[in-house]
Amino acid sequence: MTTYPVITIPNPDLRVLSEEIDPRTILEESFQTLIEDMKETMVVSKGVGLAAPQIDLPKRLIIVKIREELQAFINPEIISRSLKTVVGEEGCLSVPGVYGLVKRHQRVTVKAYNQQGEKIKMRVDGFSAIIFQHEIDHLNGILFTDKVIEYTKRTG
Ligand code: ZN
Repeated sequence: MTTYPVITIPNPDLRVLSEEIDPRTILEESFQTLIEDMKETMVVSKGVGLAAPQIDLPKRLIIVKIREELQAFINPEIISRSLKTVVGEEGCLSVPGVYGLVKRHQRVTVKAYNQQGEKIKMRVDGFSAIIFQHEIDHLNGILFTDKVIEYTKRTG
Protein backbone atom coordinates (compact mmCIF):
# COMPACT_ATOMS: atom_id res chain seq x y z
CA MET A 1 0.00 0.00 0.00
CA THR A 2 1.04 3.55 -0.66
CA THR A 3 0.63 6.52 1.57
CA TYR A 4 0.44 10.08 0.35
CA PRO A 5 1.98 13.18 1.80
CA VAL A 6 -0.69 15.41 3.36
CA ILE A 7 -0.43 18.99 2.12
CA THR A 8 -0.56 21.80 4.65
CA ILE A 9 -1.32 25.51 4.76
CA PRO A 10 -0.56 27.83 3.05
CA ASN A 11 -0.71 25.49 0.03
CA PRO A 12 -3.34 27.13 -2.24
CA ASP A 13 -4.55 23.70 -3.42
CA LEU A 14 -6.40 23.44 -0.10
CA ARG A 15 -8.62 26.29 -1.31
CA VAL A 16 -9.78 24.71 -4.56
CA LEU A 17 -13.37 23.60 -5.24
CA SER A 18 -13.07 19.84 -5.82
CA GLU A 19 -14.71 18.12 -8.76
CA GLU A 20 -17.51 15.56 -8.73
CA ILE A 21 -16.46 11.97 -9.39
CA ASP A 22 -18.15 9.90 -12.10
CA PRO A 23 -19.82 7.18 -9.99
CA ARG A 24 -19.28 4.66 -12.79
CA THR A 25 -15.54 4.79 -12.03
CA ILE A 26 -15.90 3.86 -8.34
CA LEU A 27 -15.46 0.13 -8.87
CA GLU A 28 -12.43 0.56 -11.11
CA GLU A 29 -9.27 -0.90 -9.64
CA SER A 30 -7.37 2.39 -9.73
CA PHE A 31 -10.11 4.15 -7.77
CA GLN A 32 -10.39 1.34 -5.21
CA THR A 33 -6.61 1.51 -4.77
CA LEU A 34 -6.85 5.27 -4.23
CA ILE A 35 -9.43 4.72 -1.47
CA GLU A 36 -7.30 2.08 0.26
CA ASP A 37 -4.22 4.30 0.02
CA MET A 38 -6.13 7.23 1.50
CA LYS A 39 -7.27 5.01 4.38
CA GLU A 40 -3.67 3.95 4.95
CA THR A 41 -2.57 7.60 4.84
CA MET A 42 -5.18 8.39 7.47
CA VAL A 43 -4.01 5.56 9.71
CA VAL A 44 -0.35 6.59 9.59
CA SER A 45 -1.27 10.26 10.11
CA LYS A 46 -3.58 9.29 13.01
CA GLY A 47 -6.46 11.28 11.56
CA VAL A 48 -10.18 10.74 12.04
CA GLY A 49 -11.02 12.03 8.58
CA LEU A 50 -9.26 12.80 5.31
CA ALA A 51 -10.44 14.57 2.19
CA ALA A 52 -8.85 14.01 -1.25
CA PRO A 53 -7.74 17.67 -1.61
CA GLN A 54 -5.52 17.08 1.43
CA ILE A 55 -3.45 14.68 -0.68
CA ASP A 56 -3.52 17.29 -3.44
CA LEU A 57 -6.26 15.59 -5.42
CA PRO A 58 -9.19 17.94 -6.18
CA LYS A 59 -11.90 15.25 -6.20
CA ARG A 60 -15.01 14.85 -4.06
CA LEU A 61 -13.87 11.87 -1.99
CA ILE A 62 -13.58 11.71 1.80
CA ILE A 63 -12.69 9.06 4.34
CA VAL A 64 -14.41 9.19 7.71
CA LYS A 65 -13.72 7.09 10.78
CA ILE A 66 -17.09 5.91 12.06
CA ARG A 67 -17.11 3.68 15.12
CA GLU A 68 -13.46 2.67 14.56
CA GLU A 69 -14.14 1.80 10.92
CA LEU A 70 -12.73 3.79 8.01
CA GLN A 71 -15.38 4.43 5.38
CA ALA A 72 -15.15 6.15 2.01
CA PHE A 73 -17.82 8.55 0.74
CA ILE A 74 -17.89 9.74 -2.85
CA ASN A 75 -19.61 13.00 -3.88
CA PRO A 76 -20.88 13.46 -0.31
CA GLU A 77 -23.52 16.11 0.16
CA ILE A 78 -25.26 17.31 3.30
CA ILE A 79 -28.97 17.28 2.50
CA SER A 80 -30.31 18.26 5.91
CA ARG A 81 -28.99 19.76 9.11
CA SER A 82 -30.31 19.93 12.66
CA LEU A 83 -31.08 23.36 14.02
CA LYS A 84 -29.25 22.32 17.13
CA THR A 85 -25.56 23.14 17.07
CA VAL A 86 -22.61 22.01 19.14
CA VAL A 87 -19.27 23.64 19.82
CA GLY A 88 -16.28 21.31 19.84
CA GLU A 89 -12.52 21.41 19.52
CA GLU A 90 -11.16 20.63 16.05
CA GLY A 91 -7.79 20.19 14.49
CA CYS A 92 -6.69 19.28 10.97
CA LEU A 93 -3.82 17.31 9.44
CA SER A 94 -3.42 20.19 6.97
CA VAL A 95 -3.14 22.78 9.76
CA PRO A 96 -0.62 21.14 12.09
CA GLY A 97 -0.37 22.22 15.71
CA VAL A 98 -3.51 24.36 15.63
CA TYR A 99 -6.72 23.58 17.50
CA GLY A 100 -9.81 25.64 18.03
CA LEU A 101 -13.48 25.65 18.90
CA VAL A 102 -15.89 25.40 15.98
CA LYS A 103 -19.70 25.48 15.93
CA ARG A 104 -21.29 22.69 13.88
CA HIS A 105 -24.73 21.19 13.35
CA GLN A 106 -25.34 18.48 15.91
CA ARG A 107 -26.89 16.15 13.34
CA VAL A 108 -26.66 15.99 9.55
CA THR A 109 -28.03 13.76 6.82
CA VAL A 110 -25.47 12.92 4.17
CA LYS A 111 -26.11 11.62 0.67
CA ALA A 112 -23.17 9.96 -1.10
CA TYR A 113 -21.93 6.90 -2.96
CA ASN A 114 -20.15 4.29 -0.89
CA GLN A 115 -17.02 2.34 -1.81
CA GLN A 116 -19.20 -0.30 -3.50
CA GLY A 117 -20.65 2.35 -5.81
CA GLU A 118 -24.07 2.27 -4.13
CA LYS A 119 -26.13 5.37 -3.45
CA ILE A 120 -26.51 5.81 0.28
CA LYS A 121 -28.13 8.25 2.65
CA MET A 122 -27.20 8.32 6.30
CA ARG A 123 -28.03 10.36 9.34
CA VAL A 124 -25.14 10.94 11.70
CA ASP A 125 -24.79 12.84 14.92
CA GLY A 126 -22.20 13.77 17.51
CA PHE A 127 -18.54 13.36 16.61
CA SER A 128 -19.27 11.66 13.25
CA ALA A 129 -21.46 14.59 12.20
CA ILE A 130 -18.62 16.99 13.01
CA ILE A 131 -16.14 14.97 10.95
CA PHE A 132 -18.51 14.92 7.95
CA GLN A 133 -18.98 18.69 8.09
CA HIS A 134 -15.23 19.27 8.45
CA GLU A 135 -14.32 16.93 5.57
CA ILE A 136 -17.03 18.16 3.21
CA ASP A 137 -15.82 21.71 3.88
CA HIS A 138 -12.41 20.61 2.52
CA LEU A 139 -14.09 19.69 -0.79
CA ASN A 140 -15.27 23.29 -1.01
CA GLY A 141 -11.89 24.79 -0.13
CA ILE A 142 -12.96 25.66 3.41
CA LEU A 143 -10.70 25.05 6.42
CA PHE A 144 -11.83 24.80 10.04
CA THR A 145 -9.71 27.86 10.82
CA ASP A 146 -12.20 29.88 8.72
CA LYS A 147 -14.83 29.01 11.33
CA VAL A 148 -12.91 29.04 14.59
CA ILE A 149 -14.64 30.88 17.42
CA GLU A 150 -11.64 30.67 19.69
CA TYR A 151 -8.22 29.04 19.35
CA THR A 152 -7.31 26.54 22.04
CA LYS A 153 -3.78 25.76 20.85
CA ARG A 154 -1.49 27.37 18.30
CA THR A 155 1.94 25.86 18.13
CA GLY A 156 2.04 25.44 14.36
ZN1 ZN B 1 -9.11 18.87 7.91
